[in-house]
Amino acid sequence: MRPLGSRAAAFSDSVIRRMTRVCQQYNAVNLSQGFPDFDPPRELLDRLARPLELPHQYSITWGAKNFREALAEKQRRFMGFPIDPEREIVVTCGSTEAMICAMLSICDPGDKVAVFSPFYENYGADAILSGAEPVYIPLRPPMFDFDADELEDAFRGGAKALILCNPSNPSGKVFTREELELIARLAIQYDAYVVTDEVYEHIVYAPRKHTYIASLPGMRERTLSCSSLSKTYSITGWRLGYIIAPPDIIDAARKVHDFLTVGAAAPLQEAAVAGLLLPPEYYGDLLRGYTEKRDLFLNGLRRIGLPFTEPQGAYYVLVDVSAFGYVDDFEFCVDLAKSVGVGAVPGSSFFREDVNHLIRLHFAKSESTLNDALNRLQSIWEIREKSG
Ligand code: GLN
Repeated sequence: MRPLGSRAAAFSDSVIRRMTRVCQQYNAVNLSQGFPDFDPPRELLDRLARPLELPHQYSITWGAKNFREALAEKQRRFMGFPIDPEREIVVTCGSTEAMICAMLSICDPGDKVAVFSPFYENYGADAILSGAEPVYIPLRPPMFDFDADELEDAFRGGAKALILCNPSNPSGKVFTREELELIARLAIQYDAYVVTDEVYEHIVYAPRKHTYIASLPGMRERTLSCSSLSKTYSITGWRLGYIIAPPDIIDAARKVHDFLTVGAAAPLQEAAVAGLLLPPEYYGDLLRGYTEKRDLFLNGLRRIGLPFTEPQGAYYVLVDVSAFGYVDDFEFCVDLAKSVGVGAVPGSSFFREDVNHLIRLHFAKSESTLNDALNRLQSIWEIREKSG
């Protein structure tokens, strides 16, 4: 047989989703793949409960009109600028499709794309699938700062775009306004695009605040703002995401999207409008809920004596497990699932650099699930005795 294509051979399956399978095998509490175990808002479920009132055929390829209108209005409130639902939005199957669609719309094979490391693992595969060459800029633990010169070097070296995950998965970093202004200045100076992944835009812990880079002067025209409804409305399985960008960029992205997937699920777009129409208090409540989960979980980790970097946003925490003496962090995570009963993601799947002492846990879970996980984690030190 002739060999299969080289693109798919160039990356492995997702380690995040592989860890979900490991959790199932050992019946571990899944704190690896980040998704909630609590219900979406009632308003969305009520719409789903009346299926005969939902559309069951294709929506317009770039998104149902009422979904785009509700999204444009909601994002206008948060992003601070008007968005034309007819020309500046494409609705995608999750932000996963939004990101690959953005990359395919702006990159030719051989183009360079700057990526902060650690990074959400999809970006590496997105780069390979679109033929782009990633150039990595380290975010240095524990605070995940970056060096302005290293960023400028990436642009000077010809990076056509920067991928910006803010709030950041897995580090929990929330880029400050000053950092974003610096990125914006360089993107404008070197005429580069910015592709954002802002799926955690509403999960930013006080005193930090989320700044949309598209809202900074000169950035609207060069930013492809990608996000989704998955985290904001606890509907990760509905696969509803989008790109917001100026009309000329959206024209290209709509074509790519049309031939990739035709469209996001029509009945789910219709039901999700109920989420987009929720009043402003909803987002305050969401954040309050996540702040409580974060405090509960981080206090638990402190009691157990595990060192970590406190996340400023999103719902992940990187825990330093160097004390356990493992050389292979994947092996550590398998042992953790098997012997302690908690699923984590090995840090090495997020870092370009050689890092094997961090694991990522997420806390998008109900209080009882988090308490169960913390109870189990109390026995974590037994793995050290075994490995030592
Ligand atoms: N964003 C989630 C995570 O990092 C998972 C998303 C996914 O699996 N598509 O765990």
